[in-house]
Amino acid sequence: MKRHAIAIHGGAGTITRNILTNDLELAYRGALQEAIEMGDRILAKGGNALEAVTASVALMEENELFNAGKGSVFNHEGKHEMDAAVMDGKTLMAGAVSGIRNLKHPVLLAKAIMEKSDHVLLANSGAADFAREMNLEFAPDDYFFVQHRYEQFLAARAEGHVVLDHTQPGDEKKFGTVGAVALDVHGNIAAATSTGGMTNKKWGRVGDSPIIGAGTYANNNTCAISCTGHGEYFIRSVVAYDISCLMEYKGLSLKEACDLVVMKKLVEIGGEGGLIAIDTMGNIEMPFNSEGMYRAVKHSEQDYFIGIYKD
Ligand code: ASP
Repeated sequence: MKRHAIAIHGGAGTITRNILTNDLELAYRGALQEAIEMGDRILAKGGNALEAVTASVALMEENELFNAGKGSVFNHEGKHEMDAAVMDGKTLMAGAVSGIRNLKHPVLLAKAIMEKSDHVLLANSGAADFAREMNLEFAPDDYFFVQHRYEQFLAARAEGHVVLDHTQPGDEKKFGTVGAVALDVHGNIAAATSTGGMTNKKWGRVGDSPIIGAGTYANNNTCAISCTGHGEYFIRSVVAYDISCLMEYKGLSLKEACDLVVMKKLVEIGGEGGLIAIDTMGNIEMPFNSEGMYRAVKHSEQDYFIGIYKD
């Protein structure tokens, strides 16, 4: 049987053992397990990498633990503006959306933009029009209401700060974006990312997640990547494409390229966060320069691994 593999993340940030209660840790582990199994089942049946990463991300968009879909943070107007992207490493086709409101699964819209429109990136009300044409499911504001996120938003707005997802009390910086990368049995790789962005964001702020080459990228010649972290730094560093270029033009391995970009280049400019990456050999890297990153990985011939903290 041919090998397949998948990795997912549920955000990086100041995630330490003191911050997570046992119950919350179990809830995160359970959510990560469900999401990795979802993608793995598709790959095990011979499904393609794009379907697997989309399905895993769509499931995480339904879980309010993560800053994506249902659990998205509040923007300055007390609304939810979500960003998402997908990319297919075989065809180099990509689809992305920014500033979409009230859509249950932004990642499905990104995939529809890739497959059913002539465009790569649609934004705001136009993207919503396209989502309606595609019969994608919208939900009222109530669906996206999460009490502790609302309180964090009120505090952030009162202080006049734009903050990265403060998921737990005392958790200073946490990026709850979700993402997946996968290799299918046909030898193709793909990536998907989805996020609510930053709490109290305004002026239509867009992060790295829907920017192809920054937060999301896939190319069968090199790797597939989904990032999480302080988006402005990831955009300026063109993180995902930089890793791909280091592999393609300088011959670095996936590990060497990931370590150089996440643990050195990003650190030097103060860019906090991490990413998941896969190549067509099934190698997986999950580097992060923050305290922790919700992550899981599953190779076809192995049991899954779930990680949260650095050790
Ligand atoms: N990268 C996302 C953004 O800047 C945030 C995150 O990863 O949680 O919008």
